[in-house]
Amino acid sequence: MERRTRVRFAPSPTGPLHMGGVRTALYNYLYAKKRGGDFIIRIEDTDSQRFVPGAEQYIIEALAWCGIIPDEGVDMATGKVVEEASERHPHAPYRQSQRRGLYRKYAEQLVADGWAYYAFDTAEELNAARAAAEAQGQTFIYNAGTRDGLRNSLTMTEAEVAELLESRTDWTVRFKMPQGRIVAMDDMIRGHVEVNTNTLDDKVLWKRADELPTYHLANIVDDHLMEITEVIRGEEWLPSLPLHYLLYEAFGWQDTMPKFAHLPLLLKPVGNGKLSKRDGDKMGFPVFPLNWKNSEGETYHGYREDGYFPEAFVNLLAMLGWNPGTEQEMFDMQGLIDAFSIEHVSKSGAKFNPEKAKWYNKEYLRLKSDEELALLFEPILAQHGVSGVEHDYVVRVCALIKERATFVADFWDIASYLFVAPTQFVEKDVNKFWTAENKAMALEIAGLIKTIGLEQAEQTIREREWPMGKIMNSIRLALVGASSGLGIADILGLIGMDEFQRRMEVLKK
Ligand code: GLU
Repeated sequence: MERRTRVRFAPSPTGPLHMGGVRTALYNYLYAKKRGGDFIIRIEDTDSQRFVPGAEQYIIEALAWCGIIPDEGVDMATGKVVEEASERHPHAPYRQSQRRGLYRKYAEQLVADGWAYYAFDTAEELNAARAAAEAQGQTFIYNAGTRDGLRNSLTMTEAEVAELLESRTDWTVRFKMPQGRIVAMDDMIRGHVEVNTNTLDDKVLWKRADELPTYHLANIVDDHLMEITEVIRGEEWLPSLPLHYLLYEAFGWQDTMPKFAHLPLLLKPVGNGKLSKRDGDKMGFPVFPLNWKNSEGETYHGYREDGYFPEAFVNLLAMLGWNPGTEQEMFDMQGLIDAFSIEHVSKSGAKFNPEKAKWYNKEYLRLKSDEELALLFEPILAQHGVSGVEHDYVVRVCALIKERATFVADFWDIASYLFVAPTQFVEKDVNKFWTAENKAMALEIAGLIKTIGLEQAEQTIREREWPMGKIMNSIRLALVGASSGLGIADILGLIGMDEFQRRMEVLKK
């Protein structure tokens, strides 16, 4: 029977979600929506030492900002992870720490079936084993080569084991990695992969100390219980895939084992290696979807606060590692859903280009209506102390300047002179265009503009064979504060003749 597509995004709340994490969520979402399936969010918070307060809320808010809306796991009305099961959220709770009671029996089942064992080695004993191996130039791995010499249920009597399980609270359940087996795996992006189990270790699956599973056990059990059909996640999880395959085998769940896809890394704009927060700091671009303040009070830049539109951010993320197979670059969410396919995700890392990110924003800005832009620009005007401007006026300004901007925040720099008279004048332009001779001509022409209009005044300049460029730049300098900016006709059309005359007064000084 064809199973309903169900994919999940399973972040660990260990800090703000990096843009690579948002891309993983996005690809999962696109994959699910293309198939009319479900996109589930599950919070993998079983590592209490790495838990960061606020991270879970950050992740949910970031996804909501992007329009990546889960079907299950988070109630978007409240923005909270669902804790009580309901028809819509049948697998609640979706936070693994709240599912803790569930995992122990799975760990014990593996022990009973010979796929796992109890380990009683203390941290000191393991450190000593590591040091001993290092002293001989080797690396210690807990596996078939060493486990017989260590303190675990494979080397002890049943009575000893029973006694230690009772008396100690620091034991673990470890996976008994089979020896000399070739695990043959299929990845939807990377194809067929084979790994010899001799290179793998006996991973801890469950810990008595905090009665919590590790990532590997919780992840497999929950993917099974939540009926996940495809696991789409970052490349860093590829080395765990053999263990995950073997866990499905150990539980006897091969028939419903999900398919796997490991996404390529996001790479730095220059040089090699993974895109990091530091690259963003160095080169001045955000690496996170939203601003984040860490416990030291440092703020990391977010795309949202830096003025990117969520549509632009989603579009640029989608194109980092995936291509539609055509030249098309602009996709809204529905367009992405229609075009997306895992087959077109590349195996190799995707280089992030901050200039391209800006290009996307500029394109999306141009697609916005003047009305929408005005609504975004008005609060910025208010911040600059501009009040009492007609909404319609702001709309007209937006229409004229939007081609010149990358962000709405640029509007003020581009067009403040359409709201307030300039008080500063670019010195180099002043020296060039406000010579006594130019000023005299400009004032005379300004007078003509008032009486016979701009076009006729220009005609007069031509007839008198006066220097058109110089005169217009002198006038523009009085209106704008610089010799660059919109055309005089456009400025006049907005600020009106009275304000025009007032600003020309500066030339008389
Ligand atoms: N909790 C893991 C993470 O934070 C999820 C890995 C997976 O999707 O299996 O990346």
